[in-house]
Amino acid sequence: MRWALIGASTIAAQYMIRALRAEGGEIIRVVSSSSERGAAFAVTHAIPLSGVSVEEAVADPRVDAVYISTTNEKHRPQALAAIAAGKHVLCEKPLAMSLADAVSMVRAAEEKDVVFATNHHLRCSGSHRAVRALIRDGRIGRVLSLRLHHAVHLPENLQGWRINSAVAGGGVIPDITVHDADVVRFLTGEDPKTVVAQMAASGLGKGVEDSVMSVWSMPSGVMVMSHESFTHPFAGTGLEVHGTEGSIFAKGVMTQNPVGAIELVTAAGREPVAYDPHDLYGEAVRRFHAAAAGHGEPAATGWDGVKSLAVALAVREAALTGAAVDVDYGG
Ligand code: NDP
Repeated sequence: MRWALIGASTIAAQYMIRALRAEGGEIIRVVSSSSERGAAFAVTHAIPLSGVSVEEAVADPRVDAVYISTTNEKHRPQALAAIAAGKHVLCEKPLAMSLADAVSMVRAAEEKDVVFATNHHLRCSGSHRAVRALIRDGRIGRVLSLRLHHAVHLPENLQGWRINSAVAGGGVIPDITVHDADVVRFLTGEDPKTVVAQMAASGLGKGVEDSVMSVWSMPSGVMVMSHESFTHPFAGTGLEVHGTEGSIFAKGVMTQNPVGAIELVTAAGREPVAYDPHDLYGEAVRRFHAAAAGHGEPAATGWDGVKSLAVALAVREAALTGAAVDVDYGG
């Protein structure tokens, strides 16, 4: 599969270029809004061509698929351009700035019959899959609650639009709560129903929130507690799932790398749980390539991206209004 990168981004540089190539993808061009940055990025990453025009890149007949990792407000127009040109799209989260925009992207892809995927990497991790298997195998009985700890310290090199630009889709809710919403949906097989939340600017956010705590109710009655932040250097991340017959403690697993430890606690005692430590992004690309070849669905579909965005938008609305908000999935 031949790829065009739309966005000379950190995530492309740090993870996705390697993942695309490791899975047999060929990256033939990169688009940046700056010709200088794009050219430098192309040289650094041995990409043959760079340019500033999305239209030109998606019109390239050699390009099969695009990976979009620009700032969030650009995802929709860039995805629509790629879809209109008949290219498959792997789009970063959050898919868009509004639910209607995200829905329009996924519908456009369906109409053009191209693959559209959301880059929710956590559901691709061996650790999250192991937790899901424990739940599915009934190892903790009936699930009662989940607690997600995803309060991290935003690295200095990423302290730009994420903490100071609402226009570019900054804030911890579109950045991390979307991932947690996808994790909860992946683990429980349910869509969160109602949320309450509080948010704050606790040291980094300028005009956007850098911390949020929220509680979600699931249709089955399962309760979810979720904490995301950019300002917590030593909190560590984790995921707990508590059931009538046991609890799962997955420490350090809300991350981009195949790390962390899982422990199952039941009446029989404490048991470490092994998992496959494959590359998270490589797995997402592997599934995308297969879907584009007509085999199955991508790991996270466009509709998964719509739903994670819907939850994040509900969390922000709940935090803004102080009211309990029913998640609007757009019908
Ligand atoms: P970056 O800030 O690194 O890149 C976003 C855009 O900023 C780039 O497209 C680029 O514009 C511009 N840019 C990059 N470096 C510079 C620079 N030195 N000076 C000026 N502008 C620059 O963002 P991320 O890579 O962290 O995030 C990009 C997208 O990916 C977001 O949508 C984010 O939510 C998502 N993401 C997803 C992750 C996941 O695990 N799924 C992890 C991290 C991010 P241009 O392309 O025009 O050159």
